Amino acid sequence: MKHNTRRNFIEKAAKAGAATLIALPSISTLMAAGNNSRLPVHFAANGFTMGFDQQPLPYPYNALEPSIDAQTMDIHYNKHAAAYSKNLKEAAVAEKVDITKPLEAVLHKISSYSVKMRNNGGGHYNHELFWKCMAANANAQPGGKLLAAIEKNFGSFEEMKKQFSEIAKSRFGSGWAWLVVLNDKKIVVSSTPNQDNPLMDIAEVKGIPLFGLDVWEHAYYLNYQNRRPEYIENFWKILNWNYINERFNSI
Ligand code: MN
Repeated sequence: MKHNTRRNFIEKAAKAGAATLIALPSISTLMAAGNNSRLPVHFAANGFTMGFDQQPLPYPYNALEPSIDAQTMDIHYNKHAAAYSKNLKEAAVAEKVDITKPLEAVLHKISSYSVKMRNNGGGHYNHELFWKCMAANANAQPGGKLLAAIEKNFGSFEEMKKQFSEIAKSRFGSGWAWLVVLNDKKIVVSSTPNQDNPLMDIAEVKGIPLFGLDVWEHAYYLNYQNRRPEYIENFWKILNWNYINERFNSI
Protein backbone atom coordinates (compact mmCIF):
# COMPACT_ATOMS: atom_id res chain seq x y z
CA MET A 1 0.00 0.00 0.00
CA LYS A 2 2.72 2.39 1.06
CA HIS A 3 4.82 1.38 -1.91
CA ASN A 4 1.92 2.07 -4.28
CA THR A 5 1.43 5.52 -2.84
CA ARG A 6 5.07 6.26 -3.35
CA ARG A 7 4.99 4.93 -6.89
CA ASN A 8 1.94 7.04 -7.67
CA PHE A 9 3.82 10.07 -6.50
CA ILE A 10 6.83 9.25 -8.64
CA GLU A 11 4.65 8.71 -11.70
CA LYS A 12 2.91 12.01 -11.05
CA ALA A 13 6.24 13.77 -10.57
CA ALA A 14 7.65 12.13 -13.70
CA LYS A 15 4.69 13.34 -15.74
CA ALA A 16 5.00 16.84 -14.32
CA GLY A 17 8.73 16.80 -15.07
CA ALA A 18 8.19 15.56 -18.61
CA ALA A 19 5.59 18.26 -19.24
CA THR A 20 7.85 21.08 -18.13
CA LEU A 21 10.90 19.70 -19.91
CA ILE A 22 9.29 20.36 -23.29
CA ALA A 23 9.78 24.09 -22.85
CA LEU A 24 13.47 23.75 -22.06
CA PRO A 25 16.37 24.29 -24.45
CA SER A 26 17.95 21.08 -25.74
CA ILE A 27 20.85 19.54 -23.88
CA SER A 28 23.12 20.12 -26.88
CA THR A 29 22.27 23.84 -26.86
CA LEU A 30 23.09 24.00 -23.17
CA MET A 31 26.31 22.06 -23.64
CA ALA A 32 27.33 24.38 -26.47
CA ALA A 33 26.86 27.32 -24.09
CA GLY A 34 29.59 25.85 -21.92
CA ASN A 35 29.71 24.68 -18.33
CA ASN A 36 30.45 28.12 -17.00
CA SER A 37 27.42 29.84 -18.48
CA ARG A 38 24.77 31.20 -16.18
CA LEU A 39 21.62 29.25 -16.89
CA PRO A 40 18.16 30.54 -16.03
CA VAL A 41 16.90 29.51 -12.60
CA HIS A 42 13.99 27.74 -14.29
CA PHE A 43 16.32 25.32 -15.99
CA ALA A 44 17.26 23.93 -12.62
CA ALA A 45 13.80 24.27 -11.21
CA ASN A 46 12.02 22.36 -13.95
CA GLY A 47 14.02 19.18 -13.95
CA PHE A 48 12.33 17.16 -11.25
CA THR A 49 13.19 13.85 -12.84
CA MET A 50 16.74 12.88 -13.63
CA GLY A 51 18.34 11.59 -16.81
CA PHE A 52 21.62 9.70 -17.14
CA ASP A 53 23.72 12.50 -18.65
CA GLN A 54 25.57 15.09 -16.63
CA GLN A 55 23.90 18.49 -17.07
CA PRO A 56 25.83 21.77 -17.28
CA LEU A 57 26.62 23.25 -13.89
CA PRO A 58 23.95 25.95 -13.35
CA TYR A 59 26.55 28.55 -12.23
CA PRO A 60 30.28 29.33 -12.59
CA TYR A 61 32.76 27.36 -10.46
CA ASN A 62 33.39 30.34 -8.19
CA ALA A 63 29.69 31.24 -7.74
CA LEU A 64 29.39 29.64 -4.31
CA GLU A 65 32.54 31.12 -2.78
CA PRO A 66 33.45 31.42 0.01
CA SER A 67 31.24 28.50 1.12
CA ILE A 68 32.57 26.27 -1.67
CA ASP A 69 35.77 27.31 -3.45
CA ALA A 70 36.15 27.28 -7.24
CA GLN A 71 38.83 24.58 -7.36
CA THR A 72 36.76 22.18 -5.29
CA MET A 73 33.75 22.86 -7.51
CA ASP A 74 35.78 22.34 -10.68
CA ILE A 75 37.29 19.01 -9.55
CA HIS A 76 34.06 17.84 -7.95
CA TYR A 77 31.97 18.53 -11.08
CA ASN A 78 34.46 17.63 -13.82
CA LYS A 79 36.19 14.65 -12.20
CA HIS A 80 34.09 13.02 -9.49
CA ALA A 81 30.57 13.72 -10.76
CA ALA A 82 31.50 13.27 -14.43
CA ALA A 83 32.87 9.80 -13.60
CA TYR A 84 29.63 8.76 -11.90
CA SER A 85 27.64 9.63 -15.02
CA LYS A 86 30.11 7.87 -17.34
CA ASN A 87 30.18 4.71 -15.20
CA LEU A 88 26.41 4.77 -14.78
CA LYS A 89 25.93 4.73 -18.54
CA GLU A 90 28.37 1.84 -18.88
CA ALA A 91 26.39 -0.10 -16.28
CA ALA A 92 23.14 0.80 -18.04
CA VAL A 93 24.41 -0.64 -21.33
CA ALA A 94 25.69 -3.80 -19.62
CA GLU A 95 22.42 -4.29 -17.71
CA LYS A 96 20.11 -3.28 -20.57
CA VAL A 97 18.56 -0.25 -18.90
CA ASP A 98 16.59 2.16 -21.12
CA ILE A 99 18.39 5.46 -20.52
CA THR A 100 15.60 7.49 -22.13
CA LYS A 101 13.52 6.72 -19.01
CA PRO A 102 14.02 8.61 -15.73
CA LEU A 103 16.85 7.36 -13.52
CA GLU A 104 14.42 7.25 -10.59
CA ALA A 105 12.90 4.04 -12.02
CA VAL A 106 16.27 2.29 -11.65
CA LEU A 107 16.95 3.70 -8.18
CA HIS A 108 13.61 2.39 -6.89
CA LYS A 109 14.67 -1.16 -7.82
CA ILE A 110 18.39 -0.76 -7.20
CA SER A 111 18.59 -4.01 -5.22
CA SER A 112 18.07 -5.91 -8.49
CA TYR A 113 21.06 -4.25 -10.21
CA SER A 114 24.84 -4.43 -9.80
CA VAL A 115 26.97 -2.65 -7.22
CA LYS A 116 28.34 -0.54 -10.09
CA MET A 117 24.80 0.63 -10.92
CA ARG A 118 24.08 1.38 -7.25
CA ASN A 119 27.25 3.38 -6.66
CA ASN A 120 27.17 5.33 -9.91
CA GLY A 121 23.39 5.68 -10.27
CA GLY A 122 23.31 7.12 -6.77
CA GLY A 123 26.46 9.14 -7.39
CA HIS A 124 25.04 10.70 -10.54
CA TYR A 125 21.59 11.42 -9.07
CA ASN A 126 22.96 12.83 -5.82
CA HIS A 127 25.37 15.25 -7.49
CA GLU A 128 22.86 16.49 -10.09
CA LEU A 129 20.46 17.24 -7.24
CA PHE A 130 23.22 18.77 -5.09
CA TRP A 131 24.20 21.33 -7.77
CA LYS A 132 20.58 22.39 -8.23
CA CYS A 133 19.96 22.76 -4.51
CA MET A 134 22.63 25.45 -4.22
CA ALA A 135 22.86 28.97 -5.65
CA ALA A 136 24.78 32.19 -5.22
CA ASN A 137 23.03 34.91 -3.22
CA ALA A 138 20.43 32.39 -2.18
CA ASN A 139 17.56 33.25 0.14
CA ALA A 140 18.22 32.52 3.78
CA GLN A 141 14.99 30.65 4.43
CA PRO A 142 12.35 28.58 2.67
CA GLY A 143 9.05 30.26 1.97
CA GLY A 144 5.33 29.54 2.19
CA LYS A 145 4.19 25.95 2.22
CA LEU A 146 7.62 24.43 2.80
CA LEU A 147 8.38 26.59 5.82
CA ALA A 148 4.97 25.70 7.29
CA ALA A 149 5.68 22.00 6.70
CA ILE A 150 9.14 22.24 8.30
CA GLU A 151 7.69 24.05 11.33
CA LYS A 152 4.95 21.44 11.64
CA ASN A 153 7.42 18.54 11.52
CA PHE A 154 10.37 19.96 13.47
CA GLY A 155 8.87 22.72 15.61
CA SER A 156 11.02 25.36 13.90
CA PHE A 157 13.35 25.95 10.98
CA GLU A 158 16.26 26.21 13.43
CA GLU A 159 15.45 22.79 14.88
CA MET A 160 15.44 21.21 11.40
CA LYS A 161 18.77 22.87 10.67
CA LYS A 162 20.19 21.56 13.94
CA GLN A 163 19.04 17.99 13.30
CA PHE A 164 20.25 18.03 9.68
CA SER A 165 23.65 19.43 10.67
CA GLU A 166 24.01 16.83 13.42
CA ILE A 167 23.24 13.90 11.12
CA ALA A 168 25.65 15.32 8.50
CA LYS A 169 28.42 15.69 11.08
CA SER A 170 27.94 12.21 12.50
CA ARG A 171 27.84 10.29 9.20
CA PHE A 172 30.82 7.97 9.62
CA GLY A 173 33.08 7.97 6.56
CA SER A 174 31.58 8.99 3.23
CA GLY A 175 27.94 9.68 2.56
CA TRP A 176 25.11 12.19 2.38
CA ALA A 177 22.67 13.99 4.66
CA TRP A 178 19.11 14.53 3.41
CA LEU A 179 15.88 16.38 4.06
CA VAL A 180 13.31 13.80 2.99
CA VAL A 181 9.55 13.76 2.36
CA LEU A 182 8.09 10.39 3.39
CA ASN A 183 5.05 8.65 1.85
CA ASP A 184 2.73 10.22 4.41
CA LYS A 185 4.21 13.69 3.63
CA LYS A 186 6.05 13.77 6.94
CA ILE A 187 9.44 15.50 6.60
CA VAL A 188 12.51 14.01 8.31
CA VAL A 189 16.29 14.24 8.18
CA SER A 190 18.25 11.13 7.25
CA SER A 191 21.70 10.03 6.19
CA THR A 192 22.92 7.42 3.72
CA PRO A 193 26.37 5.81 3.32
CA ASN A 194 28.49 6.08 0.16
CA GLN A 195 26.32 7.16 -2.80
CA ASP A 196 23.04 5.64 -1.62
CA ASN A 197 19.97 7.88 -1.43
CA PRO A 198 16.41 7.83 -0.06
CA LEU A 199 14.91 6.86 -3.44
CA MET A 200 16.61 3.46 -3.28
CA ASP A 201 14.71 0.38 -2.16
CA ILE A 202 17.65 -0.51 0.09
CA ALA A 203 17.58 2.83 1.99
CA GLU A 204 16.81 2.75 5.68
CA VAL A 205 14.62 5.87 5.31
CA LYS A 206 12.77 5.83 1.98
CA GLY A 207 11.20 8.93 0.46
CA ILE A 208 11.75 11.89 -1.82
CA PRO A 209 14.90 13.91 -1.09
CA LEU A 210 14.22 17.67 -1.05
CA PHE A 211 17.92 18.45 -0.81
CA GLY A 212 21.10 16.66 0.14
CA LEU A 213 24.55 17.53 1.39
CA ASP A 214 27.62 15.68 0.17
CA VAL A 215 29.84 14.89 3.15
CA TRP A 216 32.48 12.91 1.26
CA GLU A 217 35.90 14.44 1.96
CA HIS A 218 36.28 15.27 -1.75
CA ALA A 219 33.43 17.76 -1.32
CA TYR A 220 35.27 19.94 1.21
CA TYR A 221 38.81 18.81 1.99
CA LEU A 222 40.76 21.32 -0.14
CA ASN A 223 39.23 24.26 1.65
CA TYR A 224 38.17 22.90 5.03
CA GLN A 225 40.55 19.93 5.55
CA ASN A 226 39.10 18.00 8.51
CA ARG A 227 36.65 20.75 9.52
CA ARG A 228 33.45 19.12 8.29
CA PRO A 229 31.24 21.05 10.80
CA GLU A 230 32.42 24.38 9.30
CA TYR A 231 31.59 23.17 5.78
CA ILE A 232 28.12 22.13 6.97
CA GLU A 233 27.55 25.51 8.63
CA ASN A 234 28.47 27.35 5.42
CA PHE A 235 26.17 25.13 3.32
CA TRP A 236 23.14 26.89 4.84
CA LYS A 237 24.27 30.17 3.23
CA ILE A 238 24.05 28.81 -0.32
CA LEU A 239 20.86 26.75 -0.32
CA ASN A 240 18.67 27.48 -3.34
CA TRP A 241 15.34 27.69 -1.55
CA ASN A 242 13.55 28.78 -4.74
CA TYR A 243 14.39 25.43 -6.33
CA ILE A 244 13.73 23.45 -3.14
CA ASN A 245 10.34 25.16 -2.74
CA GLU A 246 9.35 24.25 -6.29
CA ARG A 247 10.54 20.71 -5.75
CA PHE A 248 8.46 20.43 -2.58
CA ASN A 249 5.41 21.95 -4.27
CA SER A 250 5.65 19.36 -7.06
CA ILE A 251 5.16 16.48 -4.60
MN1 MN B 1 30.74 14.29 -4.28
